[in-house]
Amino acid sequence: MRYDVAVIGGGPSGAVAAAILAKAGLSTVLVERNFDNVKPCGGAIPLGLIEEFAIPAELIEKKLSRMKARSPKGRVIDMKMPNGYVGMVRREKFDRYLRVEAERAGAVVVEGLVKSISHSGEGFVINTLNNKVPPLRASRIIGADGANSKTADELHFPPNELKVIAMQQRFKYTPSIQKFTDIVEIWFDGEVSPDFYGWIFPKADHLAIGTGTEDHKHNIKALQKRFVEKIGITDEPYLDEAAKIPMKPRKSFTQEKAILVGDAAGLVTPANGEGIFFAMRSGKLGALAMIEHHKHGTPLKNYEKEFRKLYAPIFFGLEVLQAVYYRNDRLRESFVAICADDDVQRITFDSYLYKKMIPASWPVQMKIFSKNIYHLIKGS
Ligand SMILES: Cc1cc2nc3c(=O)[nH]c(=O)nc-3n(C[C@H](O)[C@H](O)[C@H](O)COP(=O)(O)OP(=O)(O)OC[C@H]3O[C@@H](n4cnc5c(N)ncnc54)[C@H](O)[C@@H]3O)c2cc1C
Repeated sequence: MRYDVAVIGGGPSGAVAAAILAKAGLSTVLVERNFDNVKPCGGAIPLGLIEEFAIPAELIEKKLSRMKARSPKGRVIDMKMPNGYVGMVRREKFDRYLRVEAERAGAVVVEGLVKSISHSGEGFVINTLNNKVPPLRASRIIGADGANSKTADELHFPPNELKVIAMQQRFKYTPSIQKFTDIVEIWFDGEVSPDFYGWIFPKADHLAIGTGTEDHKHNIKALQKRFVEKIGITDEPYLDEAAKIPMKPRKSFTQEKAILVGDAAGLVTPANGEGIFFAMRSGKLGALAMIEHHKHGTPLKNYEKEFRKLYAPIFFGLEVLQAVYYRNDRLRESFVAICADDDVQRITFDSYLYKKMIPASWPVQMKIFSKNIYHLIKGS
């Protein structure tokens, strides 16, 4: 049998794409290397995503509407989200749920590690390790296989340019850790991360603590160790996990007969490392473009155009923010000081929750601009 579309990778981007394709009546196969995969991830998702993809309540382990931002000197700013919350999910459950949804929609979901993809006639032949799945034939391909995408390599997409390595440890709640159960903490501190940030995310039955840094520049294990020491936790973690975060879209993530979505395309925003929303949105936009392409012959390039039109300003804004404020502790100190402003908090959370950039009024823009200058000069 030859499928209309083969989706490689059953994380959020691939599972969403497969479900939409199958629902539209395209014969779809989803190939996931390991159904028990535990993707290293903080699992923080915005309310807008929960609503758009109708994520069931039982998957949201926590709804958190408060966040603490901590500066290098230990200044703590309490930030509130009056209009929503960050949902905390556990990826092993979340990804499994999305794959089951794809299967229920009619996609064929198979377990196998894709090891090669070759062009064949009008489409492709996909081979898995040890032929666990017999060779699959498909007219079109969606590469949703994460930061180290085999699909991108096999089909010669331009490289992922920027990769951050992130590490996370999970701790069981014990009396000394109990105080972290209800609040997200973000640490902007060069000792924790010289070019990114550290996070403390409470889940239902554990606390996730992690940090990231630009690949090869710093020792991620040493940064993580220092972070846990600074928080004052002496318990042993029960799980260590690490993975790369591709925080720059590839120069191109569309070809005539194949597209990349999610991490495979490099769709994680700079500064905050948010990838689940963009994985699911790109999976959806990619699948919709694929359906149009299948029915009316429209070019797959439309998917990339649409994604960039919607989200390029957010990627650009966050890239500038990271380049300006994450360079050293003096600048991080200024950044946290600016977060104390109510309008900055409102704009930050509104754009995080629904990815809508609503311009502030002129007086508010002038006030924020002046505060930026003041804190940048003052260094706190
Ligand atoms: C430590 C860490 C913390 C993070 N925290 C957050 C957070 O709190 N919030 C947030 O929004 N984002 C976070 N991210 C980013 C987020 O995890 C990713 O952006 C998101 O998982 C991307 O989804 P995806 O479906 O594109 O890729 P993935 O989730 O990586 O899924 C890819 C899938 O493809 C499969 N696969 C890979 N290779 C093959 C192959 N050859 N054949 C078959 N299958 C294959 C994998 O097993 C996997 O299931 C974090 C990342 C890291 C590393």
